[in-house]
Amino acid sequence: MTEETHTNTVCFYDDVFLDHIAPIDHPECPERLRSVIQQLEDSGTWDKLDIKKPPRADTAEIGVVHKPQYISAVEQKLMRGISGYLDLGDTYYSPGTYNAAFMAVGAGIELCAGIMESKWLRGLALVRPPGHHAEKDQAMGFCLFNNIAVAAASVISRYPDKKVAIIDFDVHHGNGTQNIFYKESRVLYCSIHQSPLYPGTGHIDENGFGEAFGTNINIPLPPLSGDVDWVYAMIHGIIPVMEKFQPDIILVSAGYDAHKLDHISSHTVTDNGFALLHSILVKASEKLCEGRIGVFMEGGYHLGALATGMNNFAQTLCNHNVITNFNFENQPAHTTVDTVSKVIGYVNSRWDIKLKPDMEVSYELY
Ligand SMILES: [Zn+2]
Repeated sequence: MTEETHTNTVCFYDDVFLDHIAPIDHPECPERLRSVIQQLEDSGTWDKLDIKKPPRADTAEIGVVHKPQYISAVEQKLMRGISGYLDLGDTYYSPGTYNAAFMAVGAGIELCAGIMESKWLRGLALVRPPGHHAEKDQAMGFCLFNNIAVAAASVISRYPDKKVAIIDFDVHHGNGTQNIFYKESRVLYCSIHQSPLYPGTGHIDENGFGEAFGTNINIPLPPLSGDVDWVYAMIHGIIPVMEKFQPDIILVSAGYDAHKLDHISSHTVTDNGFALLHSILVKASEKLCEGRIGVFMEGGYHLGALATGMNNFAQTLCNHNVITNFNFENQPAHTTVDTVSKVIGYVNSRWDIKLKPDMEVSYELY
């Protein structure tokens, strides 16, 4: 990679995302993003990124995904400048949420628009609140607007002949993103997640509807799944489908709550496991869509694990530390291999993927 591509990685961020203030002891707190920025600065990665202030999305832009009544109901609540909850669960808002939520959507739209226009090659949206649980007409799971879904929808509405792959490695299933694109054949949604766990969706036979059959891939993994299971699921369950789908851009819902230190799940992924996932996705983007990849921050509630993960992904995007081959000493669990095999079996009338018969996880990255 040339020097030019190093400076061609953008990062949309603004301190406004720290003004979305959480109730006491709420896991989705401003310190999460503060710790990410701190580590990016300490490691020198911040200086390698082209930092940009996100624009504010307007209601028409958000309306490519969310229903007008929902957008105006949210806007009216946020404009009052007080704190409260948007759903019956845990999606809070504070006086600063009004700007944060609309700029989080704007960051994703602008990131993807610039990639598609070749203004920059790839980049990150380091935003709060997160998005992947938000439905068309409902806030859910700390998410108000579905940042990645609006960005993907804005790409296909501007470029009707283009296709978008969304890879979601947050430990929770991205129910909102799945539902928004369940009948949309131009968007491939793939998720690896813990099951059982919130929100309870993401079964292996949820594969998309009608023309979109085969463009929704769920790989639920049981508690205690770790690096080898996640990497196996990615390289045998998701990458082969993405290779057949042939995306024009890859978007990533990057969550670090499958980390072994993150107690919101009981998965045991390590920093090395996440680094492998990053490398696999960046190399896939180079092979399949000329390096076009946009990364969206979702969950991750252990401050150190989240910061290390996001920093590594940013470094991988800048091409400083792509891992090109690796080998696991242990094998994935039989349930992992079985789940991946079943998932591919469900969608293979569309994709005709040749499943490898063994449980091999050593992998040469292109
Ligand atoms: Zn999560």
